[in-house]
Amino acid sequence: MSVNEAALSASVTADLLTKLARPQVQALTPYQSARRIGGHGHIWLNANEAPTSNDYQLDCARLNRYPECQPPTVVNSYAAYAGVSPEQVLVSRGGDESIELLIRTFCEPGQDNILLCSPTYGMYAISAQTNDVGIIDVPLNSERQPDFNAIIKQLDQVKIVFLCSPNNPTGDLVDQAGLCQLLAAAQGRALVVVDEAYIEFCPQFSQANLLAQYPELVIIRTLSKAFGLAGLRCGFSLAHPSVIALLLKVIPPYPIPEPVAQIAAQALSEQGLSVMRTRVAELNALKTSLAARLAKHHEVKKVYAPHGNYLLVHFKDGGALFARMAKAGIILRDFASRPGLADCIRITIGSQAEMDAVLDVLQQEQ
Ligand SMILES: *Cc1c(COP(=O)(O)O)cnc(C)c1O
Repeated sequence: MSVNEAALSASVTADLLTKLARPQVQALTPYQSARRIGGHGHIWLNANEAPTSNDYQLDCARLNRYPECQPPTVVNSYAAYAGVSPEQVLVSRGGDESIELLIRTFCEPGQDNILLCSPTYGMYAISAQTNDVGIIDVPLNSERQPDFNAIIKQLDQVKIVFLCSPNNPTGDLVDQAGLCQLLAAAQGRALVVVDEAYIEFCPQFSQANLLAQYPELVIIRTLSKAFGLAGLRCGFSLAHPSVIALLLKVIPPYPIPEPVAQIAAQALSEQGLSVMRTRVAELNALKTSLAARLAKHHEVKKVYAPHGNYLLVHFKDGGALFARMAKAGIILRDFASRPGLADCIRITIGSQAEMDAVLDVLQQEQ
């Protein structure tokens, strides 16, 4: 077979295999994660990861055994940390698996819809699409708040409303009065999910205190951001025990590998929590000073709400700034293609040295 024939038959094979896949999957564009987009640099400020990692102990004595579906130490410590009871906690493979499980548990493929408020985290839409669940977008209003009245009008069309607080990428918090109004209207009609992946950076704004009052409320959490464990893949759903029981019907039998459970338990110990809180204080201080410097810079039009471990920044020329940073080896996240976010770049708060590098590039006049 000539080289050309081999190439041709490879593409024919790829074509035949692709046609075997579900039409929904054939049409799908996968989530453009920071890892998938890639880039060449030495300073990674594009995935809201923590700048440093910590050490953990591993005990391999029981690796021959299947792990617990819901490791009790992890569930109990997270419940204590979050101020809920263990029956209100589900641990999963990252917050992303929580999103996926909620959709697979509550939405009938080809029939039901979720509601989201763009611009927001991309995985709500991706999980809906891969499960053939429809998406109703009620964009954030001009104050970048969910349009609660418009959402309430859609409640008979949707099974799950996804809100994100602090919102990724805009950093805004969901207004509690509006949320309560939505939760009251959602009774018996739809779940309302508040994704709190970044809540450790502003813990006083958690909506977890509403769980006791509103059984339709679900809160998503993760160890990937403030806990500095994005590589661990460990997240949580907080919800009414009946919702947790339903999710447990759908979750695979061994979702949490034993080493993950061991490390998560250490991260949630008293010492682990204090390491996390120290990191949060440092990153919040770096964020405040970066935000102040950016706000005064002549290339910056606006710095968005600073509630997560990132800043969304509206530059006069976002594309040029992004390229200038990339040339200096600093990889940021470009949101220019999202509706309403032209020239907006998201900067993860990293170490002091990384923030200095960002400011150095900003000071260089081109
Ligand atoms: C990072 C993130 C998550 C979940 O991340 P995992 O690594 O899967 O735990 C969920 N929601 C938002 C808004 C995020 O930014």
